[in-house]
Amino acid sequence: MQQDLWTAVDHYVSDLFIEPDDVLDAALANSAAAQLPSIAVAPPQGKFLYLLASSIGAKRILEIGTLGGYSTIWLARALPPDGQLISLEFESRHAHVAERNLQVAGVDDQVSVRIGAAADTLKQMIAEQTPAFDFIFIDADKESYTLYLELSLQLARSGTVMIADNTVREGEVINPASEDPRVHGVRHFHELLAREKGVEATTLQTVGSKGYDGFTMIRVR
Ligand code: SAM
Repeated sequence: MQQDLWTAVDHYVSDLFIEPDDVLDAALANSAAAQLPSIAVAPPQGKFLYLLASSIGAKRILEIGTLGGYSTIWLARALPPDGQLISLEFESRHAHVAERNLQVAGVDDQVSVRIGAAADTLKQMIAEQTPAFDFIFIDADKESYTLYLELSLQLARSGTVMIADNTVREGEVINPASEDPRVHGVRHFHELLAREKGVEATTLQTVGSKGYDGFTMIRVR
């Protein structure tokens, strides 16, 4: 019942605030046809990411976890014409679906998808002294969130905003006895954030068509 209600409210919000969008619909349809898992952000969450990135005037966006490029399209639409988005994806199959979707969306000239383990790509970007990102979206394997945070901080500047998705895990984030490595991942992530003096952060619990979870928002001091 609760899940039905959360889904219905997501539809209500989407109908009111999100214009019919063939490109985003096609991105989801292509991802489903290619048998990618249905774990993209929900439409209201995609719009939230777009609103946040555009509100801070983000010109350089980093995404960790591309899947079929659904959230990537939302974020790319927040960029000014000279903006750039780099999205990191481990599975080449996912990345290729995303690249096609990004092409259809007409944002491929501003977005590059880098295939490989995100931790390796992030370390490479740090070594190459890649200019700082204004907005970072962390949405890959939860076990590595602490590492992604540590590495992302090296690619950030004062004022960089980050969002990490799936950080509540149906409330399991407060369960120290959980045997789920993804729960351990988000618990360590929260603990590091609490210790890290260089950032301010909070976590918002979210419900919707994707269930009960959470977004953590971070601002680099
Ligand atoms: N951000 C996407 C969206 O909302 O449309 C959803 C991303 S999905 C939740 C997580 C993605 O992270 C998957 O495509 C998965 O293959 C990728 N991933 C998992 N482990 C990874 C790793 N070590 N490095 C890079 N990507 C990884």
